[in-house]
Amino acid sequence: MSVNLQTPIDYLKGVGPNRADLLRKELGIHTYQDLINLFPNRYIDRTQYYKINQLQRNNSDVQIIGKITSFKEVAQKRGKRLVGTFQDDTGTMELVWFRGQKWIRESLKLNKTYVAFGKVNWFGGKFNIAHPELELQEDHEKNLRSVMQPVYPSTEKLSNKGITNRVISKIIQQLFIETNGKFNETLSDNLRSELKLISKQSALFNVHFPKSQDLLSRAQFRLKFEELFYIQLQLILKNFIHKSKIKGFTFNQVGDYFNSFFKDYLPFELTNAQKRVLKEIRADLGSNAQMNRLLQGDVGSGKTIVAFMSILMALDNGFQACLMAPTEILSAQHYNGLLEWCNKLNISIKILTGSTKTSERRVIHESLENGELQILIGTHALLEHKVKFKNLGLAIIDEQHRFGVKQRSKLWQKNTLPPHVLVMTATPIPRTLAMSVYGDLDISIIDELPPGRKAIKTVHRYDKNRLNVFRFIRDEISKGRQIYIVYPLIQENEKMDYKDLMDGYESISRDFPMPKYQTSIVHGKMKPADKDYEMQRFIKGETQIMVATTVIEVGVNVPNASVMIIESAERFGLSQLHQLRGRVGRGAEQSYCILMTSHKLSANSKTRLETMVKTNDGFEIAEVDLKLRGPGDIMGTQQSGVLNLKIADIIRDSDVLQLARHHAKSILKIDPSLSLSENQVFLNTYKQLSKYKNIWNYIS
Ligand code: ADP
Ligand code: MG
Repeated sequence: MSVNLQTPIDYLKGVGPNRADLLRKELGIHTYQDLINLFPNRYIDRTQYYKINQLQRNNSDVQIIGKITSFKEVAQKRGKRLVGTFQDDTGTMELVWFRGQKWIRESLKLNKTYVAFGKVNWFGGKFNIAHPELELQEDHEKNLRSVMQPVYPSTEKLSNKGITNRVISKIIQQLFIETNGKFNETLSDNLRSELKLISKQSALFNVHFPKSQDLLSRAQFRLKFEELFYIQLQLILKNFIHKSKIKGFTFNQVGDYFNSFFKDYLPFELTNAQKRVLKEIRADLGSNAQMNRLLQGDVGSGKTIVAFMSILMALDNGFQACLMAPTEILSAQHYNGLLEWCNKLNISIKILTGSTKTSERRVIHESLENGELQILIGTHALLEHKVKFKNLGLAIIDEQHRFGVKQRSKLWQKNTLPPHVLVMTATPIPRTLAMSVYGDLDISIIDELPPGRKAIKTVHRYDKNRLNVFRFIRDEISKGRQIYIVYPLIQENEKMDYKDLMDGYESISRDFPMPKYQTSIVHGKMKPADKDYEMQRFIKGETQIMVATTVIEVGVNVPNASVMIIESAERFGLSQLHQLRGRVGRGAEQSYCILMTSHKLSANSKTRLETMVKTNDGFEIAEVDLKLRGPGDIMGTQQSGVLNLKIADIIRDSDVLQLARHHAKSILKIDPSLSLSENQVFLNTYKQLSKYKNIWNYIS
C-alpha cells in the first residue's frame, strides 16, 4: 500500500498538533511531501570523534566522548546558566544550558560516558558547547546512524521549542518507515540510464541518510537535476504555448524606410552583434507569432539604433511604434536622437511625458488615433487611458528594470492583437539566471562594443585624496572634456543625501569658480523643465561639470564627457555603479571613472569596488553581483520560483541547469505534448507539480 504524500503532516507518528503547527509556520511544511523535500543544508561527518585537546577555535560541529563530572549554576545578567564540566582523558571543557535547566539536571547522569555533539565555542578561556546533543555512549552505539549526519534548516523558534535537528531527523526517519521508503520515480528510465542517475527512491534515502560520500553526491545530483529539469520543462512548454496561441501581426516586408535608412543614413557600420540581433528580431516580426523579446546589451553597446531599425520594420508594414523610457530626460534624449533620422526619412515622431502641455497632448492623441503619427516616444505617460493608437505594431521598452510587470501588460491592451514587444536592458543578467527566469522570453544579446572604444580606466580613491582628484578634473577640463559628479540618493535617507549633494555642489562651485568654470546641477526635486534646461546646457557643452544624483543613471549620452566621479561609491550597488560608469567612454577620448569612498568599508563594499576597478565587462560584474546579493534581489526572480529552489543553487549548479535545460528541450522537441508512453512519467510529474505549486506566474 502506498502512502499518499499529500497527507497532512499532523498524521505522522511523532508529530502532534503542536509540532505540526510549528513545522507549518516555521518551515512551511504542510504535508509528507513537504517534509521529504526538506533537504539538509549541510552534513557533519559523525564518524569522527574529537579529543578535548584537539579542539580548535573554528566553531565547527564536533562530537566528543566524555563524562559530566559536576554541575554548577552561574548567575548572569538575566537569570542563571547551568554549566556542566565535561571531561575526557585529555582535558575538560564546559557544557552550557540557558534554558530547561531543571530538566537537564534531572535527566543527565554524572560520571556516565556520553557522546556530546554540538558547535564548539571559545569563552572565558575555555571551550564549551551550548545546548549540546547528549546521548549515552551505549545508546549511541546501538543506534543505526548514517555516516554523514544531515543538518536541516531550522529557526530559533524551532530549537527553542525542542524541535532540534535530531527531532527532525527522527520524524523524517518515521516518514521513511511509514512509506516503506517507497517513492514514485519521476524521471524516465531512458533519461536516467542516459545520465546514469540513481533512482528517486535511492536519492531521497541517501540525501537524508547518506551511506557514503559518494552516494550522497549522486543523490544530490539526481535531485538537483530533477528540480531544474521540471522548471525548464515548464518554461519551455509555456514558450511553445505562447508561440502557438498568441498571434501577432506579421510584418511581411522590409520596405522603403528600412532600406533607405540602411543605404543612405546609417551613421556607422553596424557591429556584428547588432546585425545578428536585428536578424533575430526580423525573424520574429516576420513570423505570425507575437514577439516577446528581451534585448540585453551593456551600456554603450548600441541598442538605440537596433531599436530604431526595428521601428522602421513596423512602419514599413503600415504600423505605428512606440518607445517607452523610464525618465523624462532619457525620453527626451531618445526623441532628439531619433528626430534627426526621422526628419531625413520624412517620418512623424512625437514625445509625450508628464510635462507635455495640454494643447500638445490633444494634438498627439488625435494624430495617434487617426494614424498620422507614426512614432511616439515617452515615459509611462504613454500608458494613460487617453493614449490610443490606431495600430500599434511594436512597443519598445528601454531599461526595463524601472517598469513593473503590470505596466508592461497595459501596453498590450491597446490593440486587437498585442503588439510585438522588445524590452531593452543594460543590466545584464547572467545567462544561467536569464535562462531560468526568462525561459519564456526570447533573448538577444549584444555582446560586442562598437569599435574604437577605449576601455574606461577605473580607480578607487579615498576622500582625503580629494585635492588630487580636483587637480585631475582641472586638467581634463583644460583639455576640453566634461565631468560628471554623482551623489547617492537613497529614499530612506533623502534629507541627508540632498544635503550632501548641495554641500558637494557648493564646494565644487568654490573650487571651480565662474566664469572660468560652469557647473550644472540636476536632481529629482527639480522641476522637469529646469532639469531639462540644465541637462541641455551640459549636452551642448556650455557647462563643464554636471553635479547630479542618480537621475542621470539611465541612458544619457554625452560623448564629450570623459570623467565620472561617484561620491560615496560604497553606497551604490554594483549594477548601478556599472550603469553610471557607462555614461563615460562614449567618445574617442580616454575616459575615467573615480570611485570616492570614506575609509570605513565593509567586506562587501570592498568586493564591489575591487570588481569595478578590475573589469569593464557587464556580464562579469553581473555574476559577482549575483553572488554578493543572491538571486533574490535581481529583477524577475521573485516571480520565477528560482527562489523556491529546494536543493539546487542557481549559481553553483549552473552546469546542472544547462544540462537540465538541454534535456528538457530535446525531449519536448520530439514529443511536445509528452504523449509518448516513455514520457508519461514526465507528464504526470509535471501535472502534479503544477497542481501543488503555484510558482509559475511569469512575466507577460
Ligand atoms: P546603449 O546600448 O547604452 O543604449 P547607445 O545606443 O546609446 O547605447 O549607443 C552608444 C553610442 O555608441 C552612441 O553614441 C551610438 O551612436 C554609438 N554607436 C552605436 N552603435 C555603433 C556602431 N556600430 N559603431 C559606432 N558607434 C556606434
Ligand atoms: Mg540606451
